[in-house]
Amino acid sequence: MNTLAIITQEGDLSCIMKRKGFTLHFLVTTTVVLSLLVTLLVSSIVGFQSNKDALVSNTLELNRINAEKVAITTNDLLGSAKNTLAIAADHLATKFLHDDNMQMLQLVKESNNIFNSVFIADNSGTVKITLPENLGVIGKKLESEAIQVALSQRRPLISEPYTGITGRYIILVSHPIFSADGQYLGLIGGSIYLNEPNVFEVLLSSPTFSPSGSYVYVVSKQGELLFHPNKNRIGEAVTANPVVQSVLKGDKGERTVINTVGDHMLAGYAPVHEVGWGVISQSPYENVNEASTRLVKQIFLYSAPILIILLIIVILLTRFISGPLYKLASFAEDITIDDYHGLKVPTIHNWNYEANELKKTIEKTVLSMQNRINVLSDEAKKDTLTGLNNRRTMDRVLQEWLNRNLAYSYIILDIDHFKSVNDTYGHHMGDAVLQFLAAKMIELTGPDDVCCRFGGEEFVILSPGAAAEDAYKLAETIRENIASSPTPIGNTITISIGIAASSSLQDVEDTKQRADAALYASKQNGRNRSTIASAANK
Ligand code: GH3
Ligand code: MG
Ligand code: MG
Repeated sequence: MNTLAIITQEGDLSCIMKRKGFTLHFLVTTTVVLSLLVTLLVSSIVGFQSNKDALVSNTLELNRINAEKVAITTNDLLGSAKNTLAIAADHLATKFLHDDNMQMLQLVKESNNIFNSVFIADNSGTVKITLPENLGVIGKKLESEAIQVALSQRRPLISEPYTGITGRYIILVSHPIFSADGQYLGLIGGSIYLNEPNVFEVLLSSPTFSPSGSYVYVVSKQGELLFHPNKNRIGEAVTANPVVQSVLKGDKGERTVINTVGDHMLAGYAPVHEVGWGVISQSPYENVNEASTRLVKQIFLYSAPILIILLIIVILLTRFISGPLYKLASFAEDITIDDYHGLKVPTIHNWNYEANELKKTIEKTVLSMQNRINVLSDEAKKDTLTGLNNRRTMDRVLQEWLNRNLAYSYIILDIDHFKSVNDTYGHHMGDAVLQFLAAKMIELTGPDDVCCRFGGEEFVILSPGAAAEDAYKLAETIRENIASSPTPIGNTITISIGIAASSSLQDVEDTKQRADAALYASKQNGRNRSTIASAANK
């Protein structure tokens, strides 16, 4: 059964248990609660999904914009690095390896804070001056491929990352120095130390947009990491990453990607045209998921009190609506025949059509049931042929009088030779005679006398309070009247009567037997007479 029905009409679980089936209140409440939960679930899922989709596309766009912005800034930065070196090289055309060269290097290094170190080398690649001065390479010949290319091509260059003479992983920006008469003197170079705090770190370290966990990295033309928040990964080749492949083709855009370490990322990318590098700005997909989950949880938390209030209102409303129906159903369930007199249909509010109609129908049914039972119980008391009280009713009246200690006289009447009436006129006419006698008894007795058909052609009159003599008088009146009145068969009939006053012991059987004996005496003494029972008749 319905053990979950904590919210019951009476708040009483045992009451619910005794009922067969679920109450309307429980069913409606359950339906509403389920609908609410399903709605909540569906809206949460839809909310979560649409929020996630929006967040994903926003995040992708933000990353693309950020990558483009960083690429432009990096481009500008490298351009300005080259310019600074060009200006310095111009100056050095006339003052190559002069005393103020150190001051020049200082200006170059500090102007944009791009380089970790700057140096001047002669046309053989031998380092002449460095800043910082303690690099320990002065007088040494630089032999890296980048320097060799710079020396041979004698034009401004930005190198691919390589491990320099100091053992650092670097990028070299260089500019040739020519004398005023066009003679190649050497080069001025600036190094960016990729594994140490550098200009990129300042530029890229702190992305200013959510979600958290976003970061920017830069790859070289060869697909090696030039900058990455995880310093240990700098120099690592990440060409397997599809985003890196796209950006190195010179494309810009946005996409979701599984990166080289297996993380699902939302990436935006843009190339740095000056050097063919790529900038990738990306956010973990998982963070977007978390942000959406957080949002849904928040929505859930904010809507919970409203839902609870809604639920309470629904429960109260349902209770209000189903209350009358419940009352009527309980009433209908409790109807018993034994108590049909006391049945009263419960009062209910009258604004609900179904409850109203149901109440009216129950009222009608109960009323017609009461009427029918009344008729049936009346019929059960009477003898169908004569309409007099039947023997059962007679016994009940006697028992009642016995209980009340009421004295009475018991008068028993028997038609004389009734068998011959039947034999001569037929059973049907016999019945008519019985009805005739019954009508006479009613006519001639008083309002307190109880006339009964004892059985067959024997009748009894119970006369309350009457002494045997008074009963005798009544009996004689009836007997004489009958003897002189024509019956339905045309002739008169006679009756014999036995009378007994209730015994002092109030013993009903004793009284009946004495009356019977008196009747027998009347028959024996010639019929058509009344006899009062005496102790001797017993
Ligand atoms: P007695 O003077 O000794 O009383 O003779 P009786 O013929 O009246 O007595 P008996 O008891 O021998 O017969 C009674 C008859 O009453 C027998 C039965 O056919 C008849 N009788 C009993 N009940 C009914 C009834 O309901 N209708 C009709 N028509 N006859 C009945
Ligand atoms: Mg008889
Ligand atoms: Mg008889």
